[in-house]
Amino acid sequence: MKKIITTNKYCRSVFGEQLYKLSLSAATDCPNRRAEGGCIFCSEGGSGEFAAPAAWDIDRQIEYAKRKVSAKYSGQRYIAYFQSYTGTYGELSHLREMYLAAAKREDIAALSIATRPDCLGPEVMEMLSELSSVKPLWVELGLQSGSDDTAKRIRRGYLFEEYEAAVCKLRTLPIHIITHVILGLPGEDREQMLCSVRAAAIGDGIKLQLLHVLKGTELEKWYYEGRCKVLSPQEYYDIVAEALECLPEGMVVHRMTGDGDKRLLIAPLWSADKKKTINGLYAVLRARGMEI
Ligand code: SF4
Repeated sequence: MKKIITTNKYCRSVFGEQLYKLSLSAATDCPNRRAEGGCIFCSEGGSGEFAAPAAWDIDRQIEYAKRKVSAKYSGQRYIAYFQSYTGTYGELSHLREMYLAAAKREDIAALSIATRPDCLGPEVMEMLSELSSVKPLWVELGLQSGSDDTAKRIRRGYLFEEYEAAVCKLRTLPIHIITHVILGLPGEDREQMLCSVRAAAIGDGIKLQLLHVLKGTELEKWYYEGRCKVLSPQEYYDIVAEALECLPEGMVVHRMTGDGDKRLLIAPLWSADKKKTINGLYAVLRARGMEI
């Protein structure tokens, strides 16, 4: 029986308790949005729609985020999750100050910073080294696909070899590396999606994300022009099950469903019902003999 290591299981084994992620903002820009107009699926908020404004100081953001999750979580410690835009791009002294302020709080057990593989220069690595000496650090890399053809199609703006180099670089520090992979990207079949999942297995954890068509994105235009389709629930459940089957033992699965803002969601609308989606997915995984 394949045992899936979820974030909760991982946190219990590493931190001795379940932790809840607080969505916070520090970075306000991304080099890809400047150079290429951004990835075709990227929303105006750079995936940070759930977080408090980046202009707020970090203590205010954390208290705000804690209030938002208080109905769902009664624990005392959290993961400070910096998801929006590119977390290692921009005014580094400002980012460092924000991250350190979060890391030094007692209620923050770990930091998670989402970024791009091409934004890990020497000064950034120095900052990550410092942060990792204060609190456990997770770095999340937005790979989305292992194919350079797809990368070009979705305007990701870097090659797969840059992702591999970034993982090697991050391996020099005590960092938990998480890779994001999107399932259902335009032009990708099942085999290509599974190739991407296998390629991402050089990290420590993975986030599987259903392709969402969001308002105001280039992908929205493609969708209405009939240039891209979205997956049905059954297609998605089956591909996630196959993806999990091909992951190596010990790989942490940090996400198996989408996490988008419902107000922006154009398609697939079935994914807006998160509870139903999770129940449907778990039923398929259990039927395939997986322990979640
Ligand atoms: S790298 Fe991230 S923030 Fe930048 S354009 Fe792509 S999805 Fe948006």
